[in-house]
Amino acid sequence: MYMKKTYGQNMTKACPFCGAAAYAKNKDGVPVCANHKHATLGEMKCVCGSFLEQKTGKWGAFFVCETCGPVNMKKALSVNDVQAPAKKVERARGPKKDEWGNAVEEVVRPDDPRYFS
Ligand SMILES: [Zn+2]
Ligand SMILES: [Zn+2]
Repeated sequence: MYMKKTYGQNMTKACPFCGAAAYAKNKDGVPVCANHKHATLGEMKCVCGSFLEQKTGKWGAFFVCETCGPVNMKKALSVNDVQAPAKKVERARGPKKDEWGNAVEEVVRPDDPRYFS
């Protein structure tokens, strides 16, 4: 018996940011992986160039274009280059150091002709 692979509603959704299995949802109702639970898609554009309005319906998140009407998530993602938001790196920034331990001041040598002429 030949089992046909079906792509349908029961497929595990992929995280739009990294492609991992999306078992979680972000605050917009977009299926995402656990790592991107707090990531949002941001501004999404339609194929026509208009900005899409994100909505959440019975079947999850989708988009609405004022020109084209409803656009599903898959289509929207195929148009937009969604990137995982960069992790905020907290940089410990101390006071700016002008010198790196190397003395910059002039060292007066005992045989300096300017002082011992
Ligand atoms: Zn992810
Ligand atoms: Zn459109």
